[in-house]
Amino acid sequence: MELSRDTSLTDLPGVGPARGKKLEKLGLSTMGDLLDHLPQRYEDRRGSCSLQDAPSDQPCCVSVLIAETPRISYVRRGLSLVKVKAVDDTGTVNVTFFNQDYIREVLHRGDSYVFYGVVERQGGSYAMTNPVFEREGAQRTTGLIMPVYPLTAGISNNLLAGLTRRAVDECLDGLPEVLPGQVRREHQLCQTRYARKNIHYPGSFEELAIARRRLVFEELFVLTCGLARLKDRRAQGEGRILTGSPDEFAALLPFAPTGAQRRAMEDIAADLCSGRAMNRLVQGDVGSGKTAVAAFGAWIAAKNAVQCALMAPTELLAEQHARTLSALLAPAGIRVGLLTGSVKGSAKKEVLAALASGDLDLIVGTHALFSLGVDYRDLGLVIADEQHRFGVAQRAALAEKSGSVSPHVLVMSATPIPRTLALIIYGDLDVSVMDELPPGRTPVSTFIIGENKRQRMYGFVRKQVAEGRQVYIVCPSVEESGDLPEWGEPSGAPMDLKAVTTYAKQLQEEVFPELRIGFVHGKLRPKEKEAVMAGFAGGELDVLVSTTVVEVGVDVPNASLMIVENAERFGLSQLHQLRGRVGRGKHQSYCVLVTSSRSETARERLRALCATNDGFQIAEEDLRLRGPGDFFGKRQHGLPQLKVADFAADIELLKEARSAAEALIASDPELRKSSHRLLKRRVRELFKDNEELFN
Ligand code: ADP
Ligand code: MG
Repeated sequence: MELSRDTSLTDLPGVGPARGKKLEKLGLSTMGDLLDHLPQRYEDRRGSCSLQDAPSDQPCCVSVLIAETPRISYVRRGLSLVKVKAVDDTGTVNVTFFNQDYIREVLHRGDSYVFYGVVERQGGSYAMTNPVFEREGAQRTTGLIMPVYPLTAGISNNLLAGLTRRAVDECLDGLPEVLPGQVRREHQLCQTRYARKNIHYPGSFEELAIARRRLVFEELFVLTCGLARLKDRRAQGEGRILTGSPDEFAALLPFAPTGAQRRAMEDIAADLCSGRAMNRLVQGDVGSGKTAVAAFGAWIAAKNAVQCALMAPTELLAEQHARTLSALLAPAGIRVGLLTGSVKGSAKKEVLAALASGDLDLIVGTHALFSLGVDYRDLGLVIADEQHRFGVAQRAALAEKSGSVSPHVLVMSATPIPRTLALIIYGDLDVSVMDELPPGRTPVSTFIIGENKRQRMYGFVRKQVAEGRQVYIVCPSVEESGDLPEWGEPSGAPMDLKAVTTYAKQLQEEVFPELRIGFVHGKLRPKEKEAVMAGFAGGELDVLVSTTVVEVGVDVPNASLMIVENAERFGLSQLHQLRGRVGRGKHQSYCVLVTSSRSETARERLRALCATNDGFQIAEEDLRLRGPGDFFGKRQHGLPQLKVADFAADIELLKEARSAAEALIASDPELRKSSHRLLKRRVRELFKDNEELFN
């Protein structure tokens, strides 16, 4: 049977409809799909030893002769053993297979086989358990570097490897080449055919490395071509010329800007008067003072008689920003409004009318800012705060709100992103990094404690409050978990997920009857939430019990103690964000991570947090320990999923691919050349959520 990449897997002998369904679960329906389904690891099954020389701690291949007819015994229901003796020149091996009755029919006395597995010593002889085997000379599953694929129930690795072997042997002819020849030569990349063959069945690990390098490059190249294309399109966007100087603005601030704030403001000022639409990211650690930089943008906009919209990810933050910015900018005659989901009725009507007529200069809000029915008189600048929650797609959507000339876009992120990821997530933006904190901050002291220190910790809470400070206590979830143990059990049993409401009540009634305790969580009505937060910010509450709603951006300088319950359940970067809620004023601040986890890895993660206050370093560590998933969130970033590249390991290649992609897009922005046709198709497929890419 002639096979091609389009051949359906169910046309192959041995793949019926049932197996076909299971393969489909892995995204495999044609031979071509198999070529794209990459091994997750490899087993080196090349080395062959005699029984005598076999290492005792790692698997290897041994060539042996079956010395008897296999025997089967049924130990008990659900457990059968097939045993057989085999020999080579150096000894005898007793081989045992569990629950694989068919093996009795397959292994024939007097025939030679290669077994792959660990050879254990057993007195004077040897033993193997459940080895892989095949007839001498077959070289299908032994005597080679064996690919190990991601699997699903009912599909064995041998089956998948066998099918892929056929795809590699018979379907590689005419495989189209995505990478332009020049790029391949310049970066010394192998051909696509070689790469596909050797990523599945490498002759050596050197060949595998060559193949992998090419595929990683290709993937990153296609991705960065798309990003370069996005950036290029933005850069073509004409922008209103807005002028204003950081110095003049600085006079409005109650403090002297830090060097980093000043640099960011200068970057912004330069973008705004360039005649091109600004697309800038300000990336700064928690507490680095990004709000002042945002205020600078709003100030320039107002000075040039265009409107500015500042979008925050939560109502809480929007409200806080509205307060801060209004205090800062109102003295300069700038009119500030607030628009969130909970602004309703006549209040909402008023805001909408003021926006449309131009009576508001700065509107602060949530996504509501860009919903239908919100019209601006002349929107000149969009600022998105804590933007890691907004993806490429959202950025594109909000840019559309302002008629013919795109507004300038400024995004602020307090989540330090490892450099590698920043190149990708923000590949379409210019970046200013704020790597300096305002002066006079003492680093937050961080501690890890177990349940046994809980009472002492409560004592510390009382002490802080007695000194006039305020305290956050953060719990992982608002859901009351069914198996919440009786709290305060004399046994001191570790508490499970703390439910905010219950916990706050218990703290109030049983631990801190003398303190003023409030709580917020995501399920509270916005008005209630706002009231509690305002109470905490105004000093009417001593302790705020909450979920991670306080994670981003909330600013209460008098708070000096952050307690995180069940700390092991949070990501490092998230904990760093939480910790950033304290240490914002002049008081020595503390972060206490409570955990009853005994897992050494969990503790190691938490210790990384005690070791440094540098968010970028913590982000790198988080990436190393947990992979990029957390930074990418639930694909909210709007960027495509990658298959081969590993962000922690492939930084250098990413840089290479990116510069190659930028050069290519500069020379052929629309990918019009015929030699770029396939590349263009690939970019389009990868960015199918951004359809406008090549229109
Ligand atoms: P973030 O970057 O986390 O958004 P904020 O803008 O909320 O940080 O600033 C954190 C705190 O630092 C605020 O209380 C703010 O008033 C203060 N702050 C900002 N810049 C300076 C500065 N240059 N000097 C002193 N304090 C500053
Ligand atoms: Mg902020």
